[in-house]
Amino acid sequence: MDVTCFFCKKDFSINLSDPQYTKLQRNPESSYVCKPCNDSMQRDAQTSTGLHPHQIDAYNKYL
Ligand SMILES: [Zn+2]
Repeated sequence: MDVTCFFCKKDFSINLSDPQYTKLQRNPESSYVCKPCNDSMQRDAQTSTGLHPHQIDAYNKYL
């Protein structure tokens, strides 16, 4: 599946090994966030909110 990252606008080709693949397959309208952006976003969120990454995972489902 070819996808474009919501943040950096780079193109990625993902398959079932990507955790977001199933989400995108079920809902093609949802946005893909590549791993580097996801990591930096989680770091930012963690430093600004004090949340742990596993709490942010729940939030990512709605992206
Ligand atoms: Zn990205």
